Amino acid sequence: MSDPDFLESGRRLFAGPCEFIWGASKIDGLPPASLPEIAVAGRSNVGKSSLINALTGRKTLARMSRTPGRTQELNFFELNGQLRLVDMPGWGYAAVGKEKVASWTELLRAYLRGRSVLLRVLVLIDGRHGLKPVDIEMLDLLDKSAASYEIVLTKKDEIKGSAAEQRLTDMRAALAKRPAAYPEVLFTSAHTSEGLPELRASIARLIAERQTSH
Ligand code: GDP
Repeated sequence: MSDPDFLESGRRLFAGPCEFIWGASKIDGLPPASLPEIAVAGRSNVGKSSLINALTGRKTLARMSRTPGRTQELNFFELNGQLRLVDMPGWGYAAVGKEKVASWTELLRAYLRGRSVLLRVLVLIDGRHGLKPVDIEMLDLLDKSAASYEIVLTKKDEIKGSAAEQRLTDMRAALAKRPAAYPEVLFTSAHTSEGLPELRASIARLIAERQTSH
């Protein structure tokens, strides 16, 4: 398929029904691995809820992951019967205490290492700031887990053209040293929708590639 075809199949994928189906707080509590999965990670306030809502065209979807009790879970949303988006909300909630952070990290590690249907992790980074220490911790964990991941920058509307270019250049340079990172970086805005059709298309492409490799 060509790029315009993926733009169209990405649009259709995200225009379909989307619902919360499962929350898992333990590795033996995951849903059956029956559909491909794309996980979404990012520190709190990066714009993750806004991006998931903008991608799916729904206002309240990702609010689910913030309700008490769900911030330390992997939250599964099923899209059009074709894909599951897995929200990983646990980053950057220092307030939850050391013990919870440790068990949350354990859950993430186990999921990232052992999930055969996981196609890619989207790691959201605030486009205004670039990589912060908590982001670097996350990338280190992903590299160690050997889970394929891709950086998605957020809040592009807040950044002027040349600064946005520079941010992209810096991010690509930082990723060149990371073995599990996908080399392309998308710059998105949940407010203007910039970059969202391309992000949907890249997800549709991953699903299509998976289907042809099986
Ligand atoms: P989360 O904690 O990662 O789920 O972040 P939210 O989606 O709640 O967003 C955190 C803050 O960033 C909110 O004030 C949002 O309005 C703002 N925000 C999110 N996405 C964008 C964006 O694309 N552009 C701008 N300018 N602000 C954004």
